[in-house]
Amino acid sequence: MTRDVKTLCPYCGVGCGLIATTDGKKILRVRPDPLHPANLGRICQKGATVAQTVNVSTRLRYPMIRETGSTRPQVVPVGQAIDHAATHLRRIIDAHGPQSVAFYLSGQLQTEAQYLAAKFARACLRTPHVDSNSRLCMSSAASGMNLSLGSDGPPTCYADIELADTFLFVGSNAAECHPVTFERVKARIDKNRAECIVVDPRRTLTAEAAHLHIPAKPGTDLALLNGLLHLLRERGRLDRAFVEAHTEGWAELDAMLDQYSPQWVATICSIDESLLQRAADILGQASKLITFWTMGANQSIQGTFNTNAICNLHLALGQIGRPGCGPFSLTGQPNAMGGRDCGYMGHTLPGYRFVADADHRQQMESFWGLSPGHLPSQVGYDAVRMFDALSTGELKAIWIIGSNPAATMPRLSRVRDGLERAELVIVQDAYYPTETSRFAHVLFPGAVNLESEGTYCNSERCVTLMQPVAAPPGDAKPDWWWVRETGRALGFEKGIGFQTAEEIFDEFARSTAGRPNDQSGLYHKLLREKGPQQWPFPLMGKSTARRYQDFQFHRAGGRAKFWARPHLDNPEQPTAQFPLLLTTGRVIGQWHTRTKTGTVTQLNNNHPSPFLQMHPEDATTLGLEDGQRVAISSPRGRAFSQLKLEQSISPGVVFSPIHWNDLWARSASPNEATSDDVDPISKQPNLKCCIVNVTPDECVKKLS
Ligand code: SF4
Repeated sequence: MTRDVKTLCPYCGVGCGLIATTDGKKILRVRPDPLHPANLGRICQKGATVAQTVNVSTRLRYPMIRETGSTRPQVVPVGQAIDHAATHLRRIIDAHGPQSVAFYLSGQLQTEAQYLAAKFARACLRTPHVDSNSRLCMSSAASGMNLSLGSDGPPTCYADIELADTFLFVGSNAAECHPVTFERVKARIDKNRAECIVVDPRRTLTAEAAHLHIPAKPGTDLALLNGLLHLLRERGRLDRAFVEAHTEGWAELDAMLDQYSPQWVATICSIDESLLQRAADILGQASKLITFWTMGANQSIQGTFNTNAICNLHLALGQIGRPGCGPFSLTGQPNAMGGRDCGYMGHTLPGYRFVADADHRQQMESFWGLSPGHLPSQVGYDAVRMFDALSTGELKAIWIIGSNPAATMPRLSRVRDGLERAELVIVQDAYYPTETSRFAHVLFPGAVNLESEGTYCNSERCVTLMQPVAAPPGDAKPDWWWVRETGRALGFEKGIGFQTAEEIFDEFARSTAGRPNDQSGLYHKLLREKGPQQWPFPLMGKSTARRYQDFQFHRAGGRAKFWARPHLDNPEQPTAQFPLLLTTGRVIGQWHTRTKTGTVTQLNNNHPSPFLQMHPEDATTLGLEDGQRVAISSPRGRAFSQLKLEQSISPGVVFSPIHWNDLWARSASPNEATSDDVDPISKQPNLKCCIVNVTPDECVKKLS
């Protein structure tokens, strides 16, 4: 007997609904859910093959402990692993205080696990140091929308795509990274219903589909966005009535825009000025404009400013709060939005509250039944500082859930150093080995999302409930379960003793009541019976697909804010020693560090190995050839790859996908070289732009 279960794709932030067929033991296959609003029956190659990633030999099935000094962890009973973790956490907290312990969470966890882990850290252990891999992904979009619109969370929804007549993509290769959403955009383009502009240093699949590709140099998006607004102002295309009625701060921005002449901007961006003029033509004619952006704009020292500039554009054109238009940040991971909702970053608390705000801390103390002043008032370390603090010995322990920072963080040598020095590393993952698991003293086996009940919230603020399709293998358990049990072993019961994911969700949803991301009217039974729902979904009110339709923004006085954000040159500029700019990204068939997609033959056949994309002109200058093994060196470290010469990348720029790391080959990750400079507001690392040199791989030379 087989049965069908509704679930979700575990990969990108599109959040496609899947229907999984199971025989009661195994997941036999998945197909796209025709009724899910994110995909309406569409699916990409990663989602289509997800059933093949569940019952694989690389699943972590049993807990393990590695004694200090040993390199091989040993399988142990569940109780022993939990006791071991709890004993060492207690020892470290007693000796060094709770602030010596950190949690590093993931946008791939269900909201219930994210909420419970962050609550346990702050309310039980009382450490401020809770952060997540969203810091690498969307924190600039979140901080930028907070400053411009008064709240994180995009104003738009996927249904707006079918209403828009103009699309602008900034730093987003959606055709590969958010394929199903891009299919909807492409359908509009193909029917001549919409024009499309893509800003990217590479002529990606997204750029190929667009009417206009602007190959701006990495690190120049802000100059370009300011330049476009300058031209739109010059052409009289601004919505002055909207600016007057619903915004503040225009005068300062207006004055700053004077210097962003098309000639100056074209020079900064290394583009032809005619591209700017053509883009302004298209944007000036737009009646419904959606701007999509993601990591290309976010992973920058000016990531927050980039989001502000995108919001500036929409506010100045009055392109927000109406069907078919608005700034639309695409979320990288399937539940980064849920994590942001429940406060799983160092500076946030549930319900879009902030640690630095004493009122917000007091609200959560009251909600959680804690005494005043119980919650740490210190803003917790962001991801980069967290691993730095392990390296300096300030942090002694880290519990990593559902993430692989030894492959994904910038400047990997520093991250490995931190993990090596830590007294206690707990790694909770569904797969083994990973680049991070070799540092673990305790390994907890997690269930994958197809094996556990819980929710994800996607890029359009849509919350979907997943039902378990099959039982987890061996001793693997839902992520929240390991947190609760370790908490119990440490003597905590009150506040974390939930029996089910449903109970955790109920508390999380109540914590958002009256907040900008109010979803207090949501509960598992409703999601089970009525399907996915978008927030805001207040208990006493109506759900809305679009935000700000009344043009009341979440700022004092209700007005959105223009920010005058000047372009700054990237801190690293090419030199004789490091003449190229390295940028990184994804390919369509692989996901993050390939723990899942690397198990699927079909995906590996499509994308078999790492590569470094380079323009042939640069190869000629450097004396390199297509297919050659090369070393990619920066002031921080050296990665190795295979050269791929293509005209589709701008001269002076090289690109490496992020998916292949140390498990593939030593130093295969571009993050050996990437920069750990961060945006000063969002603390997001500048992963998209660092100086490198590319030379023949000397090891290959010696062997041959
Ligand atoms: Fe999964 Fe994203 Fe592909 Fe949808 S578009 S199937 S969510 S990877």
